[in-house]
Amino acid sequence: MRLCRFGPPGAERPGVALPDGSHLDVSGFGEDYGERFFGSDGIRRLTEWLGEHARSCPAVLPGERLGPCVMRPCKLVGVGRNYRAHAAEVGAEVPPEPILFMKAPSAVSGPYDDVLLPPGSTQTDWEVELAVVIGRVARHVAVAHAREHVAGYALFNDYSERSFQRERGGQWTKGKSADSFAPIGPYLVTDGVDPASVELWLAVNGVERQRAVTSQMIFDVPTLVAYVSEFMTLLPGDVIATGTPEGVGSGQKPPVFLQQGDLVEFGASGLGSARQRVAAWERL
Ligand code: ZN
Repeated sequence: MRLCRFGPPGAERPGVALPDGSHLDVSGFGEDYGERFFGSDGIRRLTEWLGEHARSCPAVLPGERLGPCVMRPCKLVGVGRNYRAHAAEVGAEVPPEPILFMKAPSAVSGPYDDVLLPPGSTQTDWEVELAVVIGRVARHVAVAHAREHVAGYALFNDYSERSFQRERGGQWTKGKSADSFAPIGPYLVTDGVDPASVELWLAVNGVERQRAVTSQMIFDVPTLVAYVSEFMTLLPGDVIATGTPEGVGSGQKPPVFLQQGDLVEFGASGLGSARQRVAAWERL
């Protein structure tokens, strides 16, 4: 199943993508895609409900905004330097075990929303990634059982302000957490995805910057789920961003960073694509 959410920011409603590309409004099911839904076998329950009710669900209008494909998660865990070529381009060693960081859940946005340059930003960068959404509580799980704790996969961009990340003291959270820095979606795909063979790509203003397959990850998805669960309890609906391949702006020679008006397009095989304009942050 491909889950999506539609409607204005903060007031999204649950939907399902049909094979023909249209979207069905499944508000009638009565649950949004968050911790309670995933943690109570919601995907199976929704599938069953659709078997009876799909014909009476309204269509989502074509011009409707698609928001983040899951509700704001309790946790958004990032993985650093999980591709050899990316570690090399930023001048870092291949890590002996996964580097983890937290990204503020308030950074979550939709796949067609603007990316907002935070005030004072001079080095906002892109990072296309595969996101894993947790389906069952994961606490000290074994690698062999990790997949049982995954609800599905989604396209993600781990936008990062490099000067905030590297030059403002301490670790990476400051550079990872601005509003709009965590677009997820358009879809949470719950079946048929091999997380080791997803092709990721990203282009800025029509120039391709990133293209890689997730088989090139240093630590694969089951390893990451198990590893994160050693340090914190992963709750249903939590998101792990599994790291970006080479081709980020800070790895270009000379470095390239996002400017107001730029167009960022990115995608993942089987998970859909995203298209975002870069805009100046405005006080809300
Ligand atoms: Zn990243």
